[in-house]
Amino acid sequence: MIITGNIEALQEAKKTLRGTIGFVPTMGALHQGHLSLIQQARKENDHLIVSIFVNPTQFLEGEDLNAYPRKEAADIKICKLAGVDILFMPAVETMYEKDELCIGAPALRAYVLEGEKRPGHFDGMLQVVMKLLNLSSANRAYFGKKDAQQLVLISQMVKNYFMDVQIIPCDIIRDENGLALSSRNVYLQGEEKQRALSLARSLKRATKLVMAGEENVEVIRKEMLRVLEETDEVEYVAIVDREFNALERVEIGNTIILVAAWVGKPRLIDNLWI
Ligand code: AMP
Repeated sequence: MIITGNIEALQEAKKTLRGTIGFVPTMGALHQGHLSLIQQARKENDHLIVSIFVNPTQFLEGEDLNAYPRKEAADIKICKLAGVDILFMPAVETMYEKDELCIGAPALRAYVLEGEKRPGHFDGMLQVVMKLLNLSSANRAYFGKKDAQQLVLISQMVKNYFMDVQIIPCDIIRDENGLALSSRNVYLQGEEKQRALSLARSLKRATKLVMAGEENVEVIRKEMLRVLEETDEVEYVAIVDREFNALERVEIGNTIILVAAWVGKPRLIDNLWI
C-alpha cells in the first residue's frame, strides 16, 4: 500500500494502476461502516484508493473540528488489511489555497434539514469531494446512505458538472443494538449509549407503521417523536422524497425518513430509505 499526502506522489502512484479505480473518501477514525464501503469498492474495482482528510471547510464555527477523533495508526492498519492500493492523507495546506473558487450547494436540497441546521456545511463538503474525486480519477466512488443528504447532493454535483465518475450508494451499517455506526459515537458516555438507540428505534417504529399501511407522514412523525423523547433534543424528524421535498404521504420506493437529535455531547443522525 502506498501512503502519501502529496499530490504529485498520488498522481505518480496512479500511473502504475491498470484497470478500474474505486474510491472511498473518509474523515478517518475508521469503523465497520467505512470498512463496508472499502470492501465493496475492493470487490467491484481493480484498484482501490481511500482518502482520510478531516475537511475544515465543512465544519461550522464552534463544531468539533479540533476534537474530531483521529486514529491514524489504526486507520493505516485497517486500510492495509482491506487491500487498499493508495491511502491519500493530505494536509490542509495541500488541499486548499488561500482564496479559492468555490461551487455553491443548490438552494432547495442543501438548505433544508442538515443544511438548515449547519449552514455552509454542504458547500464545504462539496468543495472537498469535488477536489478528491478529481484527484482520485476514480471510475466509482462509494458513499454511505447514513449521510443521505450528502449522498444526494454529491450525485447532483456529479450530474451537474458532467463528472465522469459513478456514485455508488452504500447501506447503513449498525452495531448489534441497531445504532448507526459513526466516528462521533465515541463521544457517547454511559447511559447515553442506551438513549442513543432511540434514533434507530424511532425509524423501526416508522417502518412498522408503514408496513401496517400508514401513509400519513404527520402520524408517523408524531409516533417517532414519542420514541425520541429519550434524546436530549430533537433537531428534526423529516419525511421527504428522494429529492428532499417534504411529503404528505409516504411513497414506497421514493421516501427517506430522517432524524437528527442530540444525546449528550454528540449530535446524531440516522435515516431510513423506504
Ligand atoms: P465520514 O468519515 O464520516 O466522512 O464518512 C465517510 C463515508 O463513510 C461517508 O460516505 C459516510 O456516509 C460513510 N459512512 C459513515 N458511517 C457509515 C455507516 N454507519 N454505514 C455506512 N456508511 C457510513
